[in-house]
This record gives sequence, C-alpha cells and structure tokens, in this order.
Amino acid sequence: MVKAQGAYICGEETALLSSLEGLRPEVRTRPPFPSQYGLFGKPTAVNNVETLANVYAILSDGGTAFKAIGTAKSSGTKLLSLDSHFNNPGLYEVDMGTPLLVVIKELGGGLKEPIKAFHIGGPLGGLVPFHKIADLTIDFESFASQGFLLGHASILSIPTRFPLLEYLEHLFAFTAHESCGKCFPCRIGSVRGKELLQKARAGNYQIDRELWDDLIDTLEKGSLCALGGGLPLPVKNAMQYFPAELGAYFK
Ligand code: SF4
Repeated sequence: MVKAQGAYICGEETALLSSLEGLRPEVRTRPPFPSQYGLFGKPTAVNNVETLANVYAILSDGGTAFKAIGTAKSSGTKLLSLDSHFNNPGLYEVDMGTPLLVVIKELGGGLKEPIKAFHIGGPLGGLVPFHKIADLTIDFESFASQGFLLGHASILSIPTRFPLLEYLEHLFAFTAHESCGKCFPCRIGSVRGKELLQKARAGNYQIDRELWDDLIDTLEKGSLCALGGGLPLPVKNAMQYFPAELGAYFK
C-alpha cells in the first residue's frame, strides 16, 4: 500500500504512476502509454474503482446480462452523488439512460432552495442550466450531444442566489492550486484567469472578451491533460447560458 498526499491530479493516470514511484505527481507526455511503459517502466493497466466493480458484475453475471442494462452505447449502471442542496443527498446507483429529471425529483426528493444550474461530472464537467435538465438522460451520449460531460456524475447545485462569477473564479483558483505545472497553458492560464475574474468581481473592471476567449482557447487546445484542457467546458457553458448575469463583467 502507498500512502499518498491526496493531490487532485493523481486522478490522472500518469501523475498517479509518478506519485506511486515516489516522484512529484506530474503528468507525463504520451506516448508511451502506461499500457506499454507504466509503473517503474512496466506495462500497467490503470482503471478507476467503478470500472473494476463493473468487471466483477460482468464476470459473475456474464456480458449479455451487463449489456441488457442501460442504453445501446452506455451499458450498465452509473454511480451518482447528490449534494446537500437535495432533500435526499447521497450516493445512488442508477441504470444508464435514467432521465436526469427522475434523479433530481424522485431520488433526490427535489431541492431545498431555487437552483440556477447543476455542475455535473466534477470541476471539469459541464454546467447544466436548470431549464436543460429535462433534455438529459444519465449516459455519456446524451450529455455529449447537448454539449456537457457526464464524467463521474457528481451533481453539484449552484443556488440562484450564488454569483456565477464567483463560481468561475473558484474553478480557476482550484485549477491553479491543483495544476501539476508541467505545461504552461494550465500553469499560467489558470492563474491569469483567476486574476481577471478577481479584478472583475472587485468592481470597476471589465474583462476584454477577445483576451478571455483567447485564454479559454489556449487552455482547451494547448493543455497536456484534462485539468487545463477541461476547465474551458464549464466556463463556456456559463458564458453561453448566463449572458444576462455575466455580460456586465466583459467588454
Ligand atoms: S494541464 Fe495542468 S495538470 Fe495537466 S499537465 Fe498541464 S499543468 Fe499539469
């Protein structure tokens, strides 16, 4: 057993391997992929616990039984976590293809206060505005087709009263804190984004929209892994669906 320090970036497979080897948890360039050159140079398969739990079900019940659950492309079940804004918060397992509306109303028991958006799939998942929930089912294809990301399917509520600009600032601050520092778009871009949002939130400052779009584009296309590369998705969702709230902070 290896006792690690709990860095978010260790969710990225090559950073995890570096950490297991006693190095800084820094992302490695690929190729070579871990399946060819992984832990201490040996071929290594890295999978998350949810995937391994599915392997057990497939081996014990058979592949056909597993395929019978879920949708044509997203087989099996999905673990969801609902935050404390739900009347029934907690961890749930649902069949792939379950309507998001059923999850929110029936499993979650509705919400304790008005919510304007859900951040689904972790910090790098999509920001789903409340009016879109009826369009989504819990499977990878549904979320991708609507411009979101199912990811690990955590459902975090953003109350109507909570300023979205502050939420975006938090996402940039989180990325800046957790960045492994290997590539400059993420290492520098996350800090610059945080600074711009902090200045706009402090008042009397509008962010240049062209500069902002350039920053988001650079993060998305130039980052080495999904931390810097994934941050733009919730930011773009927020810009698309909440222009009335965010527009005043940009010029
Ligand atoms: S995107 Fe961020 S976390 Fe990923 S390799 Fe680059 S600096 Fe590291």
